[in-house]
Amino acid sequence: MFRAYTIDLYSRLLLLWHKMNPTCVFCKIASGEAKANIVYQDEWVTAFRDIHPVAPTHVLIVPNKHIQSISHAEPEDEQILGHLFTTARKIAEMDGITEGGYRTIVNTGAHGGQTVFHLHMHVIGGQRMKYPMG
Ligand code: 5GP
Ligand code: ZN
Repeated sequence: MFRAYTIDLYSRLLLLWHKMNPTCVFCKIASGEAKANIVYQDEWVTAFRDIHPVAPTHVLIVPNKHIQSISHAEPEDEQILGHLFTTARKIAEMDGITEGGYRTIVNTGAHGGQTVFHLHMHVIGGQRMKYPMG
């Protein structure tokens, strides 16, 4: 009982240390606790295929650190936010969609259509996108 409590406390402290949210599915994917088709990972971000793809390429790029949305991003996060874009470039090159083009989307809050509250960039391509948005 005491041992289980100590292990639980330790793992929670470890998650906090890494600025992760233990109830967040994208934190779990970034830490390796939950499964996903990861296509790229580094110190700052994790990129994995969307579970419900809307196009031949549909990859989500998430900061490894838990940031709820753009509305919760701080000036200290600017390096990570910029890194999302250069990672999008990398994903596009990996999937061979650079020349054809692709769409990057970051939904924010209820009106923005955000359903998972860990900031993420969608990289969608491999077919012509539909317009208009909104
Ligand atoms: P949002 O609507 O928040 O911008 O996008 C959330 C995206 O996350 C959706 O496209 C949804 O299909 C995807 N998603 C939600 N849960 C999971 C999951 O557990 N694994 C993966 N790979 N994608 C997920
Ligand atoms: Zn998270």
